[in-house]
Amino acid sequence: MNVSVIGTGYVGLVTGTCFAEFGVNVTCVDRDAAKIEALKAGNIPIYEPGLEELVTRNVAEGRLTFTTDLATAVQGTLVIFLAVGTPPRGDGSADLSYVDQVAREIAVHMDGYKVIVTKSTVPVGTGERIKAIIGETQRERVDFDVVSNPEFLREGAAIEDCMRPNRVVIGATSPQAAAILKDLYRPLYLLETPFVITDIATAELIKYASNAFLATKISFINEVANLAERVGADVQTVAKAMGLDGRIGAKFLHAGPGFGGSCFPKDLLALESLAQGAAYEFKLLGAVLEVNARQRMFMVDKIRTALGSDLGGKTVAVLGLSFKPNTDDMRDAPSITIVQALQEEGATVRACDPVAQRQAAEVLPGVTLHPDAYAAAEGADAVVIVTEWNRFRNLDLQRLKGVMRAPVLVDLRNVYDPDPVVAAGFAYHCVGRGRYP
Ligand code: NAD
Repeated sequence: MNVSVIGTGYVGLVTGTCFAEFGVNVTCVDRDAAKIEALKAGNIPIYEPGLEELVTRNVAEGRLTFTTDLATAVQGTLVIFLAVGTPPRGDGSADLSYVDQVAREIAVHMDGYKVIVTKSTVPVGTGERIKAIIGETQRERVDFDVVSNPEFLREGAAIEDCMRPNRVVIGATSPQAAAILKDLYRPLYLLETPFVITDIATAELIKYASNAFLATKISFINEVANLAERVGADVQTVAKAMGLDGRIGAKFLHAGPGFGGSCFPKDLLALESLAQGAAYEFKLLGAVLEVNARQRMFMVDKIRTALGSDLGGKTVAVLGLSFKPNTDDMRDAPSITIVQALQEEGATVRACDPVAQRQAAEVLPGVTLHPDAYAAAEGADAVVIVTEWNRFRNLDLQRLKGVMRAPVLVDLRNVYDPDPVVAAGFAYHCVGRGRYP
């Protein structure tokens, strides 16, 4: 089967490559000519563990190609995935202009029956909207179906998530289109991956509901952490015990600076907006977002307290800038809010990130970037762990102390066991562990 993927970003490139790995012929399309040129030259524009090897192999074996030419990609394929961005508009609703534009372009170039599949996260009603746009734009009547197939991959573990998803959701009204999608995903049947076959609106809502629920877990545990600090309890143990309850589950119960990235904040806003449009006040969502924004500022308070109430003239070394480990994605990273607040209060910020230095330099001017944690910590009054990359989990504390102006460690991800850090001579600050500030 031949498929094309329109939008070769984090989702499009990974899913396109994984389909190629499953033996499908995939054409990845992007309007960003520099990105396509880089891919053609064998340079992967994003950091995603394992991706480069898969791209190289599938390009070499002739199953994966890259182009800016949407016309040929549409004409040569049966299934067309949309993986373009759906960023938030000023009012929080999803900006569907990229989706609309691609739908119009597909309509113009369709030469036979096509299945048009949204992988982008889109509000309920977008499937119908795409149908209408294509119907109105086609030059002559050509049959097509629209399917919703939301993507659940996590950046940093995207290949594994695509190859072994927890579930595949297919929202379709046409049995023929649903059958084509099931056939495309047939390799996953062998892994006994659950398939949820439903209507388009339900599939579209599943994605938003899933992300909103995960974000809610994060804000919930952060509220518990803040309370634990005030009453002398330990959120780590609370979360562990909660997570052992099969009804709750252990994942997404890590206290810290809150969620960021390109999905949770925007998807919560879009869901809130969708609810408003349906004359329903989805009360939880506003609170989840509010708690998340406040949590970032609580982290700044924590750093200020660790430094003796005044950040003016202090030097802070920030470890980890990407919104989570194993990605170079800086979109809405908590580090941005935290670093900017530190700078506004007069602190000098030195930082390091294993892969996001270039991206960080663009959004965080004034921060000096260093090759490793020890270089970043030189002359610092405090080291702050913002993103829990593995390499920050087992720092040589004596070496760190040796280069710092004062031994202060603010561990915003609770990756350290407090007692050995204190025994090593550090003032240790973390999140929600009552005995430690
Ligand atoms: P991205 O910004 O990395 O990639 C989008 C790509 O689409 C860009 O390369 C852009 O140049 C391209 N594009 C835009 N308009 C185009 C057009 N008219 N023709 C061709 N290409 C065009 O975005 P992303 O992170 O891959 O997210 C894409 C969608 O997937 C969003 O709706 C997002 O919510 C959803 N999603 C993202 C993730 C994630 O972890 N990033 C996970 C699940 C779902």
